[in-house]
Amino acid sequence: MTDTTTRLLIIGPPGAGKGTQAAQIAERFGVPAISTGDIFRANIKGGTPLGQQVQAIIESGELVPDSLTNEIVADRLNQADAAAGFLLDGYPRNVEQVHALDGMLDGESLDAVVLLEADVDAVVARLLKRAELEGRADDTEEVIRHRQDIYAEQTAPLVKLFSERGILVTVDGLGTVEEVAARIATGLDAQLSAKAGR
Ligand code: ADP
Repeated sequence: MTDTTTRLLIIGPPGAGKGTQAAQIAERFGVPAISTGDIFRANIKGGTPLGQQVQAIIESGELVPDSLTNEIVADRLNQADAAAGFLLDGYPRNVEQVHALDGMLDGESLDAVVLLEADVDAVVARLLKRAELEGRADDTEEVIRHRQDIYAEQTAPLVKLFSERGILVTVDGLGTVEEVAARIATGLDAQLSAKAGR
């Protein structure tokens, strides 16, 4: 049986431009972009019980507890539109979440992981600019630095893991949206055709 699903993940430091690129990749592959950050923010905005539970955590730049985050992703991946594949953005964010996702996918692993690289000073500058434009509560300088630290400690180590699995596509995140999108497209095509040929 040919596997026609496309399961993707985009990973990179806060401010690397994952959300922007995620939308483009998802459209190209006809799969939903699933961002845990967006799900949490929508719930905060809507004043739901989940939103109330996570608001203070997110505003301080900490990670939402794994048990809660894993459950939300499991529910989302069970929805009909994710059956033919998906692009995850912002999850998994630590080793525990990688194991949880492996369990959800039941042996059908991710096809490719796009690592969007950007240096810390560049991303902090971007986020401070976004703070002026969008007013996100977790975009103050102190919280931005804290989110970068958490990324370095908990999320960056996952890169090695995905590299060992042979599914990592590393892309330079500096440049215009179009330049970065073109790099991602080239890298993903190479990775997916290599995988299909195996
Ligand atoms: P960023 O660009 O800063 O990474 P996100 O929208 O991905 O922004 O996440 C914003 C916040 O939402 C995180 O700082 C964290 O508090 C929470 N969050 C998002 N995804 C996860 C996750 N997988 N596990 C735990 N917390 C998460």
